[in-house]
Amino acid sequence: MAWLKIKQKIWHLRGIATVAPSIAFLVILSSFTGIYQTLEWATYDFWVRIRAPEPKDSRIVIVNIEESDLRALGEWPISDGKLAQLLQIINKQQPRVIGLDLYRDLNHGDESGKQQLNEIYRSTPNLIAVEKAIGEKIDAPPILKAQGQTAMADLVLDQDGKVRRGLISATLDDGQTELALATKLSLIYLQQEGIELKSIEGSPGKILGKGVFLPIKSNEGAYINVDSRGYQLILNFRGDQERFNHVSITRVLNGDIPQDLFYDRIVLIGATAESLNDFFLTPYNDSSSGLTKIMPGVYVHANLTSQMISSALDGRRMIRGIKEVAEWGWILFWSLFGAGISLVILERNLLRIDSLFYLQLILISGLLPIGILFATSYTLFLLGWWLPTISPLIALIISTVAVFGYYNQNQKNLAFTDGLTNLANRRFFDHYLEEQWHKIKQDKDLALIICDVDFFKFYNDTYGHQAGDECLKQVAQAISSAIRSHDLAARYGGEEFVVVLPNTDPETALLAANRIRFKIKAMQIPHKKSQVSSYVSISLGIASVNYNKAHSPQELIALADKGLYLAKQQGRDRAMIVEP
Ligand code: GH3
Ligand code: MG
Ligand code: MG
Repeated sequence: MAWLKIKQKIWHLRGIATVAPSIAFLVILSSFTGIYQTLEWATYDFWVRIRAPEPKDSRIVIVNIEESDLRALGEWPISDGKLAQLLQIINKQQPRVIGLDLYRDLNHGDESGKQQLNEIYRSTPNLIAVEKAIGEKIDAPPILKAQGQTAMADLVLDQDGKVRRGLISATLDDGQTELALATKLSLIYLQQEGIELKSIEGSPGKILGKGVFLPIKSNEGAYINVDSRGYQLILNFRGDQERFNHVSITRVLNGDIPQDLFYDRIVLIGATAESLNDFFLTPYNDSSSGLTKIMPGVYVHANLTSQMISSALDGRRMIRGIKEVAEWGWILFWSLFGAGISLVILERNLLRIDSLFYLQLILISGLLPIGILFATSYTLFLLGWWLPTISPLIALIISTVAVFGYYNQNQKNLAFTDGLTNLANRRFFDHYLEEQWHKIKQDKDLALIICDVDFFKFYNDTYGHQAGDECLKQVAQAISSAIRSHDLAARYGGEEFVVVLPNTDPETALLAANRIRFKIKAMQIPHKKSQVSSYVSISLGIASVNYNKAHSPQELIALADKGLYLAKQQGRDRAMIVEP
């Protein structure tokens, strides 16, 4: 009995062992089309929003140019003279490096202002100005360009328009490698800590202090075929505007600032006024809440700068994907997990069938694994790993449903199958006959054959009960092979079998019955004690009715039974038909 249970278990597991991986395979295949990407991004953004806020990065200060500043300045673009004044005030406090995140390819204002600004450009070696290097280009101030004090301010957007990646450097059309603003600022900042960018042998990765930088691949994280050109990282945002110290340009120009506000820090100057339109969507932008929290470009640069220096100095975690093969394994795992949990639940609760049971089933087999998946995925994200969540979720759900379906079908099959012969059982036969009975109204005839093994008690007595079982199996097989595909053979009980033949007139039914009889005789199963043959033989009773001649399926059975009785009486090993 124990063996039988184990065998049953293996049979079930076999189903799961093929179903779950097939589902995982299909999900992986479909993921290459990118259909899950939008939801993967949404999940990732959600993780970014719900994680605990990190402390401010006190090494960075941002000079905002807000709407009120534009009114106070009374001009835009800010004139060369004003800009020179601003840079002078900042520089007096000895910042480590200044990033000017304003495009200044043209001069603004009078000649004396221009002279002043050029003078500042020449005398400030730690000032970095931006240019736009990709697509339509915007130059940096020529003097700074000549001094090599420029960096690119280009950002890379995902297809949904959000910034999730940071561009570290890019190879431009002229073959030159250009550093991004954040990279340049970080490298200058870290130089004073004695930290330099080092290459890793045999790898595109770089080491910067405690940080290891690996460029993203085109299928990194939940990305599918992303444009990974240049050197990009997944941007590990520190946070929104509140995660950075900032001050308005008006206050700086008015000298209304603490004396050491900029000292030894990275100072970023950028436009934050709505009308200046330098804004980007980020994971902090939760479109479902209807709240649009767009981030000024300068804060995106600040985030990327902070990411680089924090990983170099504090060993702050990067966010990275795993190898693609590992990702497939991850999806397979959740497919198996969903299937496995469902199976365990189904097997444990097999006997308790009430409505509460189904509620439990849905809750446990549905929500529990999904909850575990999300919790695991989020935990891994906190540890710096970005794994797909949606594709494993799909695999898990489909696997769960498939196992339920498979199991249900299995149970149904078991309930309607005869365990010994694998034919339909008596219960199924009753259903089926009833069903066919209602159909003969339109059709012509319904025929029924009842078969009974001759002298089977003697067979058991002679060869033993087990041999008797084997004999019944063979008889069942012979019956199955002798009938048409739309006829139904069932075990009626003991050594009696029935065949339902829809749409069959008496003559055809008689032919079918004799076909069965000959098939069994032809197997030549020895039966010493039979009084009619040296081989196993059967007797058959046949009835075929149309709707007008009989009143119930029971009547049909009674007629066939009568036929069987006659066949036995008249010497066995024969088929007898009884007309209504
Ligand atoms: P008859 O020709 O009149 O049908 O003679 P018989 O011996 O076949 O008649 P009877 O119906 O009295 O005997 C049927 C025997 O079938 C009795 C029972 O032991 C045996 N039998 C019923 N079910 C099974 C089974 O599942 N396995 C085995 N081995 N024997 C069975
Ligand atoms: Mg018998
Ligand atoms: Mg019998």
